[in-house]
Amino acid sequence: MNIAIVGAGLLGRVIAINLLKNKEHKVTLFDKDSKKAFNSAAFTSAGMLAPYVELERAESEVAELGLKSIELWPSLLEEIGASECYEQKGSIVTSHPQDMADLNHFISKLSSKADVAEVIEELDRDKIMELEPDLQNHQKAYWVKNEGVIDVQNFMAFSTKFLEEHPNVVFREFCGVKKIEPKKVFLDDKIVEFDWVFDARGLGAKEHFEDLRGVRGEILWVETDEIKITRPTRIVHPRYTIYIVPRTITFSETEAEYFKDFKAPIDGKKNIYVIGATEIETEDTSPITVRSTMELLSALYTVHPSFGEARVINSEANCRPSFKDNLPRVETSKGLSRINGLYRHGWLVAPAIVENLLKEIGLND
Ligand SMILES: Cc1cc2nc3c(=O)[nH]c(=O)nc-3n(C[C@H](O)[C@H](O)[C@H](O)COP(=O)(O)OP(=O)(O)OC[C@H]3O[C@@H](n4cnc5c(N)ncnc54)[C@H](O)[C@@H]3O)c2cc1C
Repeated sequence: MNIAIVGAGLLGRVIAINLLKNKEHKVTLFDKDSKKAFNSAAFTSAGMLAPYVELERAESEVAELGLKSIELWPSLLEEIGASECYEQKGSIVTSHPQDMADLNHFISKLSSKADVAEVIEELDRDKIMELEPDLQNHQKAYWVKNEGVIDVQNFMAFSTKFLEEHPNVVFREFCGVKKIEPKKVFLDDKIVEFDWVFDARGLGAKEHFEDLRGVRGEILWVETDEIKITRPTRIVHPRYTIYIVPRTITFSETEAEYFKDFKAPIDGKKNIYVIGATEIETEDTSPITVRSTMELLSALYTVHPSFGEARVINSEANCRPSFKDNLPRVETSKGLSRINGLYRHGWLVAPAIVENLLKEIGLND
């Protein structure tokens, strides 16, 4: 099959990696930006795979897709030689002592939506010290044992290399697509025909999905050698919940190459924490505001005073492609499949959604 994928962000890459398992398929990827996809929501995101913790606001459908995706990620990453991008040591949910009622409410909300008794363990201070000694300021926490995390930027680096070197792939960067129809991709000057087309343009698919909206999310990257938090950690707060996601694996050569022309000096640094994220109903992707910076950093500083000496090395702001119900949507007709609306759960649900779709249309290997 001669297949087009329009949009090489998260979904486009997951679709491509799956299709390329079949040596007969030829894949053409189109993206309006560079192959590195620095401007995609995929690149901005934190990469948490948190089917249970996200239940606080998500539907159980998202949790089910998430649990399935957690099974699928390791083999997907193996396909592109990036197994090290994945960790599954669970996540931590905690709060400051004065916000204990909010923490208890948070956990009881999860329990009302799924059977979490086996999955969530309550930690007292001693157990916190065993698991994450740098969360020593916290008296109580919950460990959600089977959640995972993808090192998103490393995934983007490895998948870029994999796709640009693959003999069955044509990667057309800086190639914006105007319109998509079954088996047809409309470029500025011509229409290109394929056996099947996937529309994975995220927010760029508004010409088709009238009810698609962007939900702004802002994120900071801080670097410090003084703190070792090894699991994604959420701090529940009455007004917002922030998360701290460690990116502490070894900096690979592939990643170094990928970051060569990045706006912030990343070169070789790896004790990075991604701090996020705001959620604001606007499609504004301009730089992070002072207010969001202050909220994220003050919450961070109260987790451990040594964060006061951490260096803020980058900030990102982007929009999550979302529908009104904040649920993903898949549309298929002969010769065309569209997936969109992954909202704040792209990494959590993409592998399961893509696997289900490829089975349905008979394109699975
Ligand atoms: C701050 C933040 C934090 C997040 N954290 C998490 C998290 O921890 N866990 C999680 O599961 N999810 C998270 N997400 C959500 C996740 O990033 C998104 O759901 C996901 O990236 C959506 O994937 P996508 O492929 O639909 O869109 P994108 O990743 O945005 O990719 C779309 C691609 O299409 C291209 N494109 C657009 N229009 C065109 C066109 N006309 N022609 C050609 N190419 C085009 C774009 O350039 C882009 O590369 C987060 C998002 C944000 C913003």
